[in-house]
Amino acid sequence: MSTLLIKNAALAATFDDSMRRIENCDIFVRDNRIAAIGQKLDIKEADKTIDASGMLVMPGMVNCHHHLYQTLTRNIPRVQEAELFPWLVNLYEIWAALTPEALYWSTLTGLGELLLTGCTTSTDHFYLFPDHCPDNLFDQQIKAAKKIGIRFQPTRGSMSRGKDQGGLPPTRVVQKEDKILEDCERVIKAYHDPDPLAMIKIALAPCSPFSVTADLLKNTAEMARKYKVRCHTHLAETQDEDAYCLNVYGKRPYDLMESVGWTGDDIWFAHCVYLNEDEIKRAAETGTGISHCPASNMRLGSGIAPIPSMVDHNCAVGLGVDGSASNDASDMLGEVRQCMLLHRLRSGVDSMPAERALTLATRGGARVLGYKELGKLEVGAGADIIGISLKKLGYAGALSDPVAAVVFCGDSHIVDFSVVNGQQVVKDGKLCLMDEMEIFEEANRWSNYMLEAAKKATGVDMCSKEGPGFEAPRPSKEKKA
Ligand SMILES: [Zn+2]
Repeated sequence: MSTLLIKNAALAATFDDSMRRIENCDIFVRDNRIAAIGQKLDIKEADKTIDASGMLVMPGMVNCHHHLYQTLTRNIPRVQEAELFPWLVNLYEIWAALTPEALYWSTLTGLGELLLTGCTTSTDHFYLFPDHCPDNLFDQQIKAAKKIGIRFQPTRGSMSRGKDQGGLPPTRVVQKEDKILEDCERVIKAYHDPDPLAMIKIALAPCSPFSVTADLLKNTAEMARKYKVRCHTHLAETQDEDAYCLNVYGKRPYDLMESVGWTGDDIWFAHCVYLNEDEIKRAAETGTGISHCPASNMRLGSGIAPIPSMVDHNCAVGLGVDGSASNDASDMLGEVRQCMLLHRLRSGVDSMPAERALTLATRGGARVLGYKELGKLEVGAGADIIGISLKKLGYAGALSDPVAAVVFCGDSHIVDFSVVNGQQVVKDGKLCLMDEMEIFEEANRWSNYMLEAAKKATGVDMCSKEGPGFEAPRPSKEKKA
């Protein structure tokens, strides 16, 4: 048994059921749970103490959507100004050069940024399995998460509908459906831990309605329910997707998902920019979760998801940084700020207060990913705790409301400490368990490798905006499946 005392936080924002804020707060952690929280706790000794003087302490945030493998292909000049479909068809050509080592280092890069910016639990949506990679490619992500110390619920993703079957991805990065399901079963058996505070859980995630078949969606949900794991996919991200689904399936994206058994509190969708009011009500009634990804939706010009309406309907809504190549950062606290600002444009200035955006990132995300004991600071909750020093120039003059200050203000989104499952993983704004510069060097090495390999294979220089790239088919040209 190990103990940890977090002492004398200027303010603890608990995000518990009554949204308590406690000044001069101590938190005592036994193993991986909070054992006591309050002022002047009578704790004689602890194995480890963190001095949180001058800090805002709050629950670690939960990231509900990401593609960590894309971290090596951020900010690619050819797609800096592309919408989703052309963005995808060009990047697929670089992603086809992925290797196990590239996946390992890209995962560490994204997870490192997430930890540094206040995220303590993340999912990942990994769906790209090039022909040349070994069958156990997915396992690199688990190895990376264990090394860096984050709580992780990666999804075994999939793509089965290549260009030759009316899908978007090149055939060399899609897999046969029986092979996909076989590997889904393998990773569940190898890694999924049903414990409510498990450090590793597995979910299943066909990529999107335009890269898999309806059969694969149905079979994946059946397998997930057999093993009691969750299911995830992209949904209603763009108007192109609406048009594609109407053309190919004769249904709107949400109707398609309903028809293949994809609603319920064990399902969550990324984006949902184009859900209508009726679909929002149906998502709320079934407990179907939504990961809102504001930066990605702005970056690709996809649209503004109706999040205030979803929250009013008591939908399960969390935040996702999404990317890494459509954000192009894994900045969790930055995503909270984007969320707060974006909705004011369409739904009014009072539609997304700072505390509401933080609630989505903490309690909301924990609900979406199925962690009942995370996203809040209270006795018995999981010990995922972050501290942000308020003694910084960026917060000067803003301390009349320290909780809102970390969303409205600040010159950096780096947290001062982070504890995951009772273990300190960020200290003084630096990762504890890995050398950040080693990750940086390896990430750049593998990024360059992939760019060179793609150029050799396709003759197209993705680092240039000049000359023709790859054209996205327009949805109207698709044939019905
Ligand atoms: Zn995504």
